[in-house]
Amino acid sequence: MSDGQLAVIGVGSVGSMALWQASKLGIAPVGFEAVTPAHPRSAVGGDTRLFRMTYRGEHNLYPVLQLAERLWRQLEQDSGKEILTQCGGLSIGETDGAYIPALLDSIGRTGAPHEVLPYAEMARRYPQHHLSPDECGILDPRAGFLRTDRAVLSAVDAARENGAQLIKNAPVRDIREVAGGVQISTDTDRWTFDRVIVAAGFGSGTVLPPILQRHVHTKRNFLTWFTAGDPQQFAPETFPVFIRITGDLSLYGAPTVDKVTVKATLDGRGTPAADADSIDRELTPGEVWETIETVQAFLPGLIPEIVRSDAYPDLFTTDSTGLLGPLPGRDRIYYATGFSGTGFKIASALGAIAATEALGRGPVLEDLDFLRPARFGSPD
Ligand SMILES: Cc1cc2nc3c(=O)[nH]c(=O)nc-3n(C[C@H](O)[C@H](O)[C@H](O)COP(=O)(O)OP(=O)(O)OC[C@H]3O[C@@H](n4cnc5c(N)ncnc54)[C@H](O)[C@@H]3O)c2cc1C
Repeated sequence: MSDGQLAVIGVGSVGSMALWQASKLGIAPVGFEAVTPAHPRSAVGGDTRLFRMTYRGEHNLYPVLQLAERLWRQLEQDSGKEILTQCGGLSIGETDGAYIPALLDSIGRTGAPHEVLPYAEMARRYPQHHLSPDECGILDPRAGFLRTDRAVLSAVDAARENGAQLIKNAPVRDIREVAGGVQISTDTDRWTFDRVIVAAGFGSGTVLPPILQRHVHTKRNFLTWFTAGDPQQFAPETFPVFIRITGDLSLYGAPTVDKVTVKATLDGRGTPAADADSIDRELTPGEVWETIETVQAFLPGLIPEIVRSDAYPDLFTTDSTGLLGPLPGRDRIYYATGFSGTGFKIASALGAIAATEALGRGPVLEDLDFLRPARFGSPD
């Protein structure tokens, strides 16, 4: 006998949104969470995540971002809380380097609103950034930052108000298709659901089938915060989120949300981790040194001393995009995981697509082949 129409495994960034969206479709989904939603050892940790509509590469991501933006606003309406602060975002780099021309090429394909700010204009409008004359900035007016734990907890609350059930401290150990459903097992119990969404992020590896296990790996990513000499200069009204890639140096960050500290972190420094438990939360001396050097060079208004740091897990696919959908011929188990260091900004959209498609009511968007698990093959 079935215990329900839909279970969501992992109630973090994406799972909370899937639970919320499924609950809006008139069913009572059940969420299984290994710890508790938005716990600080998940990819939700670290207060904020960058949101932006302009990016390099896969242009089919743009409709997903547009849907995500709309759904973040819906979550704000449902919860009465500010979740997405669209303070704008800067992409900074050498005008003729590897980053800015590739970014402009992607923007040309999507038509995302933007403004090119040459060196002198950057110096006038954003003196916090110390640029060299061969650098420029691209302003994305719809970019900003998301309050991560607030978003996840708001989605869970909204889902529960709509009749969803949350089972905490329940790590799922096994997921398998059985006659007429999917059986999931925790350390103490067994349930059968019509459909299951796997959204366990860094914890998905062990419950994925071998064909997908071969294409994912966990990475450790760290975050660092600095004190602002003048916090007003780094407030959301004056200091957009930013990503800067100049030669070998790269840094990204967000304005202060506590009126004291500013997040400014090396970009692209994820390192392999056997599993989430083995992640070292301390930074290595090399990470500390490189972060301080880069901050000193790029943002002279920050006091060059790390006042807060931490490290978090995320699941990466071998092509650094994600897994969204079932494997061919196995429609009952839907994967929504592996979003490779970029998933929070689109978590609201991923949850909506997953819930709708898993229940057989999709598709929500076309042209998502770059995310479909089928690109890695069929079940063994
Ligand atoms: C340091 C850092 C900075 C980042 N910066 C950005 C950014 O600026 N912008 C952006 O868009 N993205 C960013 N990302 C990426 C983004 O945060 C992640 O891609 C996204 O949060 C992953 O969501 P998830 O739901 O897959 O995983 P999580 O949010 O980690 O959720 C997984 C949940 O599943 C639970 N779980 C695990 N195993 C099991 C199990 N067996 N049974 C039940 N539950 C289980 C976990 O406890 C957890 O709650 C960043 C990531 C990191 C780590």
